[in-house]
Amino acid sequence: MNPSVEVSHLTIRFGEFTAVDDISFSVDPGEIFGFLGANGAGKTTTIRTLLGLLAPSSGTVKVAGLDLSRGANAVKGKVGYMSQRFTLYNDLTVSENLAFAAGLRKMTWEALERRTRELFEFIGFTRPASTPVQDLPGGIKQELALAAALLHEPEIVFLDEPTAGVAPAVRLRFWALIKKLAGSGKTVFVTTHYMDEAEQCGRIALMRAGRIIALETPQELKARAFPEPLVELERADEALLGRLRADPAALGLRPHGMRWHLALRDERAWQELEESLPPGSARRIAPSLEDVFVRLVEGRER
Ligand code: ATP
Repeated sequence: MNPSVEVSHLTIRFGEFTAVDDISFSVDPGEIFGFLGANGAGKTTTIRTLLGLLAPSSGTVKVAGLDLSRGANAVKGKVGYMSQRFTLYNDLTVSENLAFAAGLRKMTWEALERRTRELFEFIGFTRPASTPVQDLPGGIKQELALAAALLHEPEIVFLDEPTAGVAPAVRLRFWALIKKLAGSGKTVFVTTHYMDEAEQCGRIALMRAGRIIALETPQELKARAFPEPLVELERADEALLGRLRADPAALGLRPHGMRWHLALRDERAWQELEESLPPGSARRIAPSLEDVFVRLVEGRER
């Protein structure tokens, strides 16, 4: 099976500034591939290149088996794109929006009608197609924007922060659609700042300052980033925090809501800490992706 996306030594420069710095990866058909990183890490720039909108400064990019250096036009029929920022035209109705998107893709009326039926069923859209988009709730708009991105039956869909700023219940529904899409063999390439969403990806590429610093399944990432014990402190007063900050066995300490997460050097350090604290005030926990993100991407422990 050929990969959906193959990137080899991709570098993208804007003048003197290197936004994407020698990255290589591939994505398989049907995979949910998560692209994570702090703001400005180079995610959107990479996606723009994969969509054929931005030429690489160096390196090679193949999307849906097509080498982009030989021309990017053919790839446009194979990819769909959606972001939080660009969704649908509020002044147009649902059917007008889809007809507009179909026109850009040069689809026939028959194809548009068939795909509209299929996609309404896929997203569970039951309102009249004559509804102006501005009258729809935000979550349904997002789902329709996804439908518009899928209208021309792309092999790969790029979702750039598709759920940014959206309510949790809406995000859940949206991710159920993403899973259904991948289950039907479509490749999903998604960026998100929500760690619960990242958790649902098959593999995650972590980007920092234009480079991929890790590329693994969420489970592998957690195991590798946190080989040592991780502990949650129920409460920590200044005296305890001061003691931990001075303790060489305390490798990482950071606030987590009302609590603290603490990485310790080894099992012995954990035993000693547990014995020194009132019962129940510290417990061993499995690292979350947020812990991994803070450690690897932001480097802001301690
Ligand atoms: P975010 O999560 O904020 O969307 P990102 O990881 O998608 O971040 P990019 O949008 O790819 O980051 O930007 C990477 C870097 O490249 C940033 O420093 C940005 O300012 C810079 N950049 C992006 N496009 C251009 C451009 N056309 N000209 C100059 N610099 C650019």
